[in-house]
Amino acid sequence: MHFDHSEKAFAQASELMPGGVNSPVRAFQSVGGTPLFIDHAQGDKVMDIDGNTFIDYVCSWGPGILGHAHPQVIQAVQKACSQGLTFGAPTQKESELAQLVQQAYPAVEKLRLVSSGTEACMSAIRAARGYTHRDYIIKCIGCYHGHSDGLLVKAGSGLLTQAVANSDGVPEGYTKTTLLAPYNDEKAIQQLFERYPHQIAALIIEPVAANMGVVPPKPGYLQFLRKITQSYDTVLIFDEVITGFRLALGGASQYYGIQPDMATFGKIIGGGMPLAAYGGKKEIMDVIAPIGSVYQAGTLSGNPIATTAGIETLKILMADPDIYERIDQKAKQLAQAYRKKSYTVNQVGSLMSVFFTNQEVVDYQSAKTSDTQAFANYFHTLLDHGIYVAPSQFEAMFISDAHDQKDIQKTIQIIQEYV
Ligand code: PMP
Repeated sequence: MHFDHSEKAFAQASELMPGGVNSPVRAFQSVGGTPLFIDHAQGDKVMDIDGNTFIDYVCSWGPGILGHAHPQVIQAVQKACSQGLTFGAPTQKESELAQLVQQAYPAVEKLRLVSSGTEACMSAIRAARGYTHRDYIIKCIGCYHGHSDGLLVKAGSGLLTQAVANSDGVPEGYTKTTLLAPYNDEKAIQQLFERYPHQIAALIIEPVAANMGVVPPKPGYLQFLRKITQSYDTVLIFDEVITGFRLALGGASQYYGIQPDMATFGKIIGGGMPLAAYGGKKEIMDVIAPIGSVYQAGTLSGNPIATTAGIETLKILMADPDIYERIDQKAKQLAQAYRKKSYTVNQVGSLMSVFFTNQEVVDYQSAKTSDTQAFANYFHTLLDHGIYVAPSQFEAMFISDAHDQKDIQKTIQIIQEYV
């Protein structure tokens, strides 16, 4: 397999953009080599500019639950494009999307559309602080909630492979109200609440962590968080940017049967376009401007093309609820193939990660025991055989409805023979 064109494109991009990319993990820094420059994608495949075809388990890091270029979504987007790209004024599509989200996710009584998961999490926390008139928040070590200043503390995703626990450029003052606890550690959370009983505005968590690799919540952990936040009048925020509309229509909330006070969404909700949302209890959301005193705004928020892609994607998911059973089954098949090779595999629904460690992976500490060089070798072995997974140990593998049995079997065969 040749990557000459990608190499040339990467050299050019590296002169123009930091690391040649517009989001760090894309640069293949932790696995080495040249990132694939994508020409186009269809169904479960991506095609690079060298003419290579790959079975794609990145799925644009989550949005692609239906696979690439789903005809119904593309058609709707094309029609919307012909009617104008942005108006900066309300459209009925925003309410249509909001209604679909509300239907899928009952904890969301009201929501606000934004353009990225970062904005959604940052704004949800601002709302929670405005609502409670408290300053502190709790986040878990290894969870990623976007790159806003106060959340870049022991975050996951690209920050794990770059070995920077905190980003430069973030003044200490921005992070000193962020309290940290290891994921799945009830005692640590209990201690924080005992230490700051009336000061914690929100606890934000990925209900299934997916930015230190996939790490499921231990049985009872989310129930514990629900109970303790309730007893301290702290806003429980589920960051469902990855899990929303993926584990179930109602995300991790439905999957585990727990209602947070607020939730954030990204990725699938925009059907591949830049769209995200935060929402929750009406009385919390009503602190947002213009009716409340917490300011948050966006020129392209609720963009008509992005809302169209989101509406179409959610409608397809709602019309075909069996999709979740199908994608879960495929993930189970892959997980089984890896387990036969004695790897540590964490799989929840259509999200999974393979860790190169003998330890059970339950938090950031145990995720870090994975041999990242072994991961890099594994990554390139798969790539050389036409399979594209996320170029980092600390990300999820995403399975879509477009992955057909032929490609799943091909992947299993490659795992059996070469991994
Ligand atoms: N929360 C989670 C759980 C995420 O995985 C991500 C991005 N991968 C974000 C927030 C930030 O979203 P965005 O990249 O759209 O800003």
